[in-house]
Amino acid sequence: MAEVESFTLDHTAVKAPYVRLINVEAGPKGDQISNFDVRFVQPNSGEIPSSGLHTIEHLLASLLRDRIDGVIDCSPFGCRTGFHLIMWGTPCVKEVTAAIASSLHAIAEEATWEDVPGTDVYSCGNYRDHSLFSAREWARTILEQGLSVDPFERVFIVH
Ligand code: ZN
Repeated sequence: MAEVESFTLDHTAVKAPYVRLINVEAGPKGDQISNFDVRFVQPNSGEIPSSGLHTIEHLLASLLRDRIDGVIDCSPFGCRTGFHLIMWGTPCVKEVTAAIASSLHAIAEEATWEDVPGTDVYSCGNYRDHSLFSAREWARTILEQGLSVDPFERVFIVH
């Protein structure tokens, strides 16, 4: 089986919340995409409940694209401790971290139910499983802990 970098990371060595560049891959025509590990919760210490994670996912889909160019996809990990963020090109961890922190701030302080995109039966695969309350509380908690730009040391560029 193919080796996947995410599974070679020592999940006991990281200090979440953090943003980490997993890798940069080039396609056959030379286009580059970057894959980031956006870790919101310390692995094996907790997880965001699925309803809150789902609402964060929907909100980040819009908020991140408003704040940084080149977003291809931002999808939650199955372990519910964070997200994969796939970007065109090679944005640096600091600019990605700033965009995520600003998006979390908007979720924590400003988001209303009307701001959450895709919350009906036509536009979501599990529209009953959303919680803006949970999304806001978790966004606040993550920001209080601070998003590190280094997965192993607590290094902050955004507060
Ligand atoms: Zn959905």
